[in-house]
Amino acid sequence: MSGRTIRRSCSGWGSDPTTDESAGSLDNRLLLTTGHRCGSQIGTPPVGPVNRVREAGGGRLVAVSLYRDEAIVLRLHKLGEADRIVTLLTRRHGRVRAVAKGIRRTSSKFGARLEPFTHVDVQLYAGRNLDIVSQVESIRPYGASIVSDYRRYTAGTAVLETAERLTAEEREPSLRLFLLVIGALRAMTSDGRAPSLVLDAFLLRSMSVAGWEPALAECAICGQPGPHRSLSVPAGGLVCMRCRPAGSVNPSAASVELMSALFTGDWAGAEAAGPATAKEASGLVAALLQWHLERGLRSLAMVERG
Ligand SMILES: [Zn+2]
Repeated sequence: MSGRTIRRSCSGWGSDPTTDESAGSLDNRLLLTTGHRCGSQIGTPPVGPVNRVREAGGGRLVAVSLYRDEAIVLRLHKLGEADRIVTLLTRRHGRVRAVAKGIRRTSSKFGARLEPFTHVDVQLYAGRNLDIVSQVESIRPYGASIVSDYRRYTAGTAVLETAERLTAEEREPSLRLFLLVIGALRAMTSDGRAPSLVLDAFLLRSMSVAGWEPALAECAICGQPGPHRSLSVPAGGLVCMRCRPAGSVNPSAASVELMSALFTGDWAGAEAAGPATAKEASGLVAALLQWHLERGLRSLAMVERG
């Protein structure tokens, strides 16, 4: 069951330049450059994944482990005058918070590359509490085309906020979520999909990744095959007439079809839906997600629908 879901969730965005097939070659390319660059950045010769740096204020050389990963920049916040803490969703290390030193100076070597929505290749030193960014290369700067368009920006912000909320534990790898975020950003930029549909597709699939896959065909309670007319948010999806809990709603068949199309990546079907259907489906998707989250998503209320 879960195997089937993995394939469906991760392939639904269409062609994906960051799927596993291409990842090997990308990683190989990066590894070739790692040693030289890390050496030039900190003034010590490269010694593989462990480097020695001077302790702040002391003279002692301490061993630090260095690692490299792909990441999406989720968020930045200020740390003192010139530094920032950057929250990254990495491909292999889950959600990581790291210090980007000197990023707010105009001379910063990676300032512009560490903006939200940017897909980066990043090199970090593992710190005791927070890691430290030592090098950043931009893979895809999705931010420029997202922040220039209000619908993309609000939908994209909700994607990033959801990704952060669904990675409650730092450093818990979630490759599927990482691929979903990349897929969503690409779908609403280079693929030109409607941002609100992309967001709903992302929310449905990320619920599946989190173990809350909505029941869109069989009854959420007894498993009886559909189609069913009623939907219960606490039950987690469609419910049959026998199980139907109090407070269930009766969405239009078109809205249920739209949610199924978004979940499976049937874009032709999804884009044929009218605005009223899209609005109803969005409301149901948001309700299903928010049921599972302790606090609501602030950014979801900002999304412009239709
Ligand atoms: Zn039932």
